[in-house]
Amino acid sequence: MLSDHIEITGARENNLKDVTVRIPKRQITVFTGVSGSGKSSLVFDTIAAEAQRQLNETFTAFARNFLPSYGQPDVDSIDNLSAAIIVDQKRLGGSSRSTVGTITDINPLIRLLFSRVGQPYVGYSNAFSFNDPQGMCPECEGLGRVTTLDLDKLLDRSKSLNEGAVLHPDFAVGGWYLSTYLMSGWFDGDKPLRDYTDEEMSVLLHGTGKVPVEWQGGKINTTYEGLVDKFTRLYIKKDIGAMSERNKASLLRFVTAGTCPLCQGGRLSPAALAASVGGFHITDLLAMEASELLATLRELAGTVPPAGGPIVANLIDRVQNLVTIGLGYIRLDRETTSLSGGESQRIKMVRHLSSSLIDMMYVFDEPSIGLHAHDVRRLNELLVKLRDKGNTVLVVEHDRDVIAVADHVVDMGPKAGAHGGQVVFTGSFAELTEAPTLTGRFMKHALPLKQEARTPTGALTIRDASRNNLKNVTVDIPTGVLTVVTGVAGSGKSTLINEVFLGTFPDAIEIDQSAVGASIRSNPATYTGLMDDIRRLFAKANGVNAGLFSFNSKGACTNCQGLGVLYTDLGFMEGFKSPCDVCRGRRFSEEVLGYQLRGKSIADVLELTAAEAAEFFTEKKLRTILSAVNDVGLDYLRLGQPLSTLSGGECQRIKLATELHKTGTVYVMDEPTTGLHMSDIQHLLEIIDRLVNQGNSVVVIEHNLDVIKNADWIVDLGPEGGTAGGEVLFTGPPADLLKADTYTAEAVRHDLAV
Ligand code: ADP
Ligand code: ADP
Ligand code: ZN
Ligand code: ZN
Repeated sequence: MLSDHIEITGARENNLKDVTVRIPKRQITVFTGVSGSGKSSLVFDTIAAEAQRQLNETFTAFARNFLPSYGQPDVDSIDNLSAAIIVDQKRLGGSSRSTVGTITDINPLIRLLFSRVGQPYVGYSNAFSFNDPQGMCPECEGLGRVTTLDLDKLLDRSKSLNEGAVLHPDFAVGGWYLSTYLMSGWFDGDKPLRDYTDEEMSVLLHGTGKVPVEWQGGKINTTYEGLVDKFTRLYIKKDIGAMSERNKASLLRFVTAGTCPLCQGGRLSPAALAASVGGFHITDLLAMEASELLATLRELAGTVPPAGGPIVANLIDRVQNLVTIGLGYIRLDRETTSLSGGESQRIKMVRHLSSSLIDMMYVFDEPSIGLHAHDVRRLNELLVKLRDKGNTVLVVEHDRDVIAVADHVVDMGPKAGAHGGQVVFTGSFAELTEAPTLTGRFMKHALPLKQEARTPTGALTIRDASRNNLKNVTVDIPTGVLTVVTGVAGSGKSTLINEVFLGTFPDAIEIDQSAVGASIRSNPATYTGLMDDIRRLFAKANGVNAGLFSFNSKGACTNCQGLGVLYTDLGFMEGFKSPCDVCRGRRFSEEVLGYQLRGKSIADVLELTAAEAAEFFTEKKLRTILSAVNDVGLDYLRLGQPLSTLSGGECQRIKLATELHKTGTVYVMDEPTTGLHMSDIQHLLEIIDRLVNQGNSVVVIEHNLDVIKNADWIVDLGPEGGTAGGEVLFTGPPADLLKADTYTAEAVRHDLAV
């Protein structure tokens, strides 16, 4: 029997307390609640994970080998699930060959258009693909850039080969590569390169041949390959965009990179570049911002030969979706690796909007990220469009305007961590505004505008900034206050602050939401520096070495090497993780667990929450650190919880906790309200206030109106995104913004009138 609801019974992932909840199908359900209340645990770790797992089960064991593995979530049952499509903020990876146009499937349509009605007639649509040998520029193989080896950077000509004349680390003295040169017998290893004859230099750089090399006691016949050819083959022919940061950095020291001289960055063959439709070359279209492309396509619609009509109509539909979702400022030839998390999520959304699959379950993680209040309305239209096609839409969100579009709201709480994990309200948005929950209360009325703005103590000046879309911007960033930089998506905020400001004032400290430590061995205690003192206390109390009380030492459980869990790899089947049966997840050896401090073992201490630890420890230094952790609202965090399991907002706050004692520092934060509930935002603002009151300066990029209203100084960019933006429209305190004529001013006025 078909049911109208997804039925979840007894969900217990992470902090969930046996949650039982029904979610209406083919409607929009928004999940709300403070950061750490359990929204992701329910939506992503339980519902979406189970949908993915069940889908994977339908594949053969062989095929499953190639799919990500999903463990069985801790839940009694979930019924009536649909296949899930997760639209999250993970950056779109890929190589330099992946662009906004390729990933949205707009490029294939443009190619089709050129192959049908391009002048002169040029052939199949492959001939317009820079990822196809038929269409790619032969010089740069479709990358648009050429990288050339710079011998002046690679060689130190004052040195001999034996002295390390070749500077790339892979050609170090004693290594295999250099040995093939030295043992060829063709060079004097002690002669500085500047004394080489032309002939010797030519052999070193371009020679070929067979040479015997003595290596580790044996003789090997190997192929000699000149330095330039070897270097080109090993590094330059590789896609720089796909290299690790480290390899990229070491390569970039020895090359010059520039636009390809043949295609001028257009990536395509000369024939493809010469073709045109309605007077436009393919590169003209790909270099336009989406909103300009849309206008151009509308003109073309009336003029192209009939064979092109349906293709242009289809293109208009897709590009319109890009514009609607607030990406009108983005160019199709933009490489996806340079997109922000919010932009990546919206691009993924565009891909799905053109899909004709129905009865799917779409799961969004804070889709309002990176969007100005002005653009949120359009985002809502797209969520509604997905629903009206017959899909179930689940959204984790904090933005009031997005919550308002919900057919159904599931509010989690009452608080975070162990104090959360329950459904505290379900119902319509109207009912939520009357609910006695934290979310309900914040929905009711807008917070007031700051009236008494602080006076700046000075200013840091950005001069003549013209990076990306910035139009020769000169602007003062005041010190000793909270400055909020705002403006619609694509107006230039990140360029101004993250690139220009941080590039000009490198002492400024950036506090973002990125992970604070990838290692499973790091946790709040190690990150904040608590662990060193805790180890010392245990050592002193028991008369043993402090090193024993570390997961990485010989005090660690030898069965699991201090991980507390064992990973079992089953090869052709899904692998799994189980608690270590020797230490039972406690991570230390039996001997170490025997040592106590005031009745607790080291494992017991790591199980304490920050709040409990603040009562347990009387030592001044520990209490100072713990009170900072509690002050940033992380009192519920356990000292031993792996940092890899912290949410973005939790990572940001633990970073802030370690900064609270500083003074005279400039902090930069990019959309710090991401993942934060309105009550968390109040808390964040209190922490920022404290930093500023202690004599620090804080610069925040934000769209959130509560943060904007709380600024001492506002820098508003615009008027639009992309080339239509990049100007400073307003600077001053919030009370003056009210009189300005910008999207931000309009949004604040609207908010205060509610
Ligand atoms: P929300 O999405 O509402 O911000 P989460 O579902 O991410 O909340 O987290 C709920 C709680 O569970 C938080 O206290 C978080 O630190 C904790 N948590 C999340 N993932 C893990 C994990 N893998 N192991 C232990 N605790 C976790
Ligand atoms: P905001 O932070 O206000 O959303 P950005 O500073 O990210 O705006 O973008 C401003 C303009 O610069 C936009 O037109 C954007 O497409 C462009 N831009 C930003 N980063 C890059 C990049 N890495 N490569 C090319 N264009 C970029
Ligand atoms: Zn080229
Ligand atoms: Zn163990």
